[in-house]
Amino acid sequence: MSDISFAELGLDPAVLEAVTEVGYEKPSPIQAQAIPALLAGNHLLGVAQTGTGKTAAFALPLLSRIDASSREPQLLVLAPTRELAIQVAEAFTTYASKFRHFHVLPIYGGQDFQPQIRGLKRGAQVIVGTPGRMLDHLRKGTLKLNNLKALVLDEADEMLRMGFIDDVEAILAKTPDDCQRALFSATMPPQIKKVAQTYLQNATEVKIESATRTVERIAQFVLPVYAERKLDALTRILEIEPFDASIIFVRTKAETTLLAEKLSARGHAVAPLNGDLNQRQREQTVEDLKRGKKDIIIATDVAARGLDVPRITHVINYDVPYDTEAYIHRVGRTGRAGRTGKAILLVTPRERSWLRTLERATNSPMQGYELPSPKELLEMREQQFETQLLAFSDDKKLAKAIALLDDIAERNDMDMAMVAGALACWMEAAQPGSLPLEQPEALPVVSNKPPRRDSKGGRPGGDRRKGGFKKGGPKGQGRDGGRGKSVGKGGKPAGKRPPRKA
Ligand code: ADP
Ligand code: MG
Repeated sequence: MSDISFAELGLDPAVLEAVTEVGYEKPSPIQAQAIPALLAGNHLLGVAQTGTGKTAAFALPLLSRIDASSREPQLLVLAPTRELAIQVAEAFTTYASKFRHFHVLPIYGGQDFQPQIRGLKRGAQVIVGTPGRMLDHLRKGTLKLNNLKALVLDEADEMLRMGFIDDVEAILAKTPDDCQRALFSATMPPQIKKVAQTYLQNATEVKIESATRTVERIAQFVLPVYAERKLDALTRILEIEPFDASIIFVRTKAETTLLAEKLSARGHAVAPLNGDLNQRQREQTVEDLKRGKKDIIIATDVAARGLDVPRITHVINYDVPYDTEAYIHRVGRTGRAGRTGKAILLVTPRERSWLRTLERATNSPMQGYELPSPKELLEMREQQFETQLLAFSDDKKLAKAIALLDDIAERNDMDMAMVAGALACWMEAAQPGSLPLEQPEALPVVSNKPPRRDSKGGRPGGDRRKGGFKKGGPKGQGRDGGRGKSVGKGGKPAGKRPPRKA
């Protein structure tokens, strides 16, 4: 973060007040550089990764320049997806919360035209939308840009990737010549450069090398595991990690559903998030995660793009990502809004070369993740069982329950210990796994060492030969490596977590 404060940037007092209320301490690097340039009316070209605070970088200064007494569209923001458009619109609502008359209107495909047309008729100073639908409205004449003061292209490279670049150019061509323009992108492919040269002449350029910043607050772990044991490993991670919400990345849409079903069967509040769901369903899923109706989301890279849910404390890479950029984006789903996060990557023996690659790309170390030993796991479960049992020791129905069981004991010549034992077995029969009786099986240990290139010039990935992984028992497991302090004794508060199956 820079040394400058928000108060020094020259923002409109109402905007500054809103930012203070949100609790941002300092402008992020891109904000510190972009805000003065945009306040001065310059065009801006901003290159920065996800999670660097680009929304506020354009929203705060451009809101400061808005004439809140006029309802004409003054600021147009183009975003690649409906989700991102909504997210940006929500950010505007937050940052403009101290304005007396402010309207932001999200506009995207897949929604009826009528409510959008009504919204446009009512008037809104800021319109955020996807290019296709925006262009539809321009062509229909339901949206006019005569008095547009500023235009923002958010995630320009993503719009290019999604094939929107022609629509974007068509919209740009319809904006007034004196309209201020800002373009944000994580990368600068040639087509985007060309757009910038045409429409953002003499722009102030801000480039933030942010790959490392993105992961600064995120503790990164790697767990080598055999492919066929990944689900077991994941189940244990979820059992011992004190997460609030967690996002699990897999490679395919089919896998999101499959894994969600498996975790659901194990008692987790989980939902898949993939491109096959319609937008309505995807929105609902994200909303459920925000509200705590779901705690885990199984997602593909595409579906989770730009996802901003502050309660995500853990990112689990169940499948390795396709490239380092995807990895950085994935782990950036946690550690949001200044919080800390934890990322855990499962790698199969063949994939261990990822370790070095990612350490280099993020410029930060990956620690070995250690699962508890079977003995420790059993102890944890016993502890948890006890905690949950004790939580019922002053239950409203306790007295009646005791009376009932006393009767049974007396009639059948049992003591209360026998009755309690029988009850526990009943519970186990109804919910297998709820009674911690047996030590769980040890997962085979895979060496944590990255594949070594030997003198014969072995390829990474071809490491099934010597120096490869070790097979065998719980050796090397057991220390509290990487799980942090909050794990272990006591576990979760009683009642929070459903009974689990091993
Ligand atoms: P980007 O568009 O670069 O991916 P966002 O604008 O979505 O990033 O911001 C990412 C997160 O950081 C959001 O949760 C946002 O509220 C938060 N954020 C933005 N600016 C600041 C700041 N100056 N201080 C703390 N948190 C911030
Ligand atoms: Mg963004």
